[in-house]
Amino acid sequence: MQAIINAKFLVDDGILENQILLFDNNIVGFTEEVPEGIEVLDAKGAYVSAGFIDLHIHGSGDADVMDATPEALKRISSILLETGTTSFLATTMTMSEQAIDKALQNVQQHAGQVSGAQILGIHLEGPFINASKHGAQDKAYIQRPTTDLIKNYMQEVKMITLAPEVGGAEYFIKFMKKEYPHIILSIGHSDASYEESQESFTWGVSHATHLFNAMNPYHHREPGIVGAVLDADVTCDIIPDLVHTHPSTLELVQKVKKEKLILITDAMRAGCMKCGTYDLGGRSVEVSDGKAVLEDGTLAGSVLKMNEALHNMIRHTSMSMVEVVNAVTKGPAQKLAINKGELRVGYDADIVIFDETFNILYSIVGGDLKYKRYN
Ligand SMILES: [Zn+2]
Repeated sequence: MQAIINAKFLVDDGILENQILLFDNNIVGFTEEVPEGIEVLDAKGAYVSAGFIDLHIHGSGDADVMDATPEALKRISSILLETGTTSFLATTMTMSEQAIDKALQNVQQHAGQVSGAQILGIHLEGPFINASKHGAQDKAYIQRPTTDLIKNYMQEVKMITLAPEVGGAEYFIKFMKKEYPHIILSIGHSDASYEESQESFTWGVSHATHLFNAMNPYHHREPGIVGAVLDADVTCDIIPDLVHTHPSTLELVQKVKKEKLILITDAMRAGCMKCGTYDLGGRSVEVSDGKAVLEDGTLAGSVLKMNEALHNMIRHTSMSMVEVVNAVTKGPAQKLAINKGELRVGYDADIVIFDETFNILYSIVGGDLKYKRYN
């Protein structure tokens, strides 16, 4: 068993001080005295929360899930510890069936071998999307929703971003909801109207992928997906890099969605890397000034780090420290129905320690110290 002392613990009720957190592989609980003979980590007044969970990330550290190699997964898993992310969904792109199958198979076989942030499963972004809202996804490989592509990976797939208005989507969504209720069906890269979006929520869509991006903008007479998501009980996520969305949009969304808002990075291989030219799903992406764009200027994923996402939310919205942290811990954990995301007895001991500007000082995964900023 280990203990963390001198910390500001972020828990549901607020910030807990003058307490000691005990953990082994799981959270053991809070106490007022350090039991004798156990290892103690002095947080020196820093914040401590559950580890961050990223539902949408393609890569980082010059590696991408679509590289489909064990090395790529290891590289992503290890570099994410610097950003406070302790678990994530390996996110695929719209590419050829063979390329997607290779990436899914790689995750199925090798996700368990990474030693940093844990791979919770797969987020399939496309290819079941609308060609008119493809964003940085390659249009050539868009296809109608089918279980053929994923039938061998139903346990690994945890989330699918799709367009509910395309042919075959209604059947697919209803089938998936009935047969594989653990898979989150998310509206995204879609041209759906307000009415179509609302209807898809009754079929089984329960989430929206990077709200505002790769969908029609909100219009007061055509509210579209954005309007439907804002006035329904579904969760949604957003990329708070101040490039994909204006700061005032972040404030608007959090005011309306409250704890139903989840933060994602949507980072691509240039995450945690220098400016330059990188590949995303077979297309060339130019990275500079915290922006990743295709040759025609289309935004192509982000280079956002999860700790920066939190810092941006604190600076540009009225959310409290507990609320922003919940949007990358408790929120995504509850969505995935996993015992993570809270410093709660029995939950996995995924823990991060960070300063007031979200510099990550320590990352702990399953009770093991995996990253330390200073030696
Ligand atoms: Zn993405």
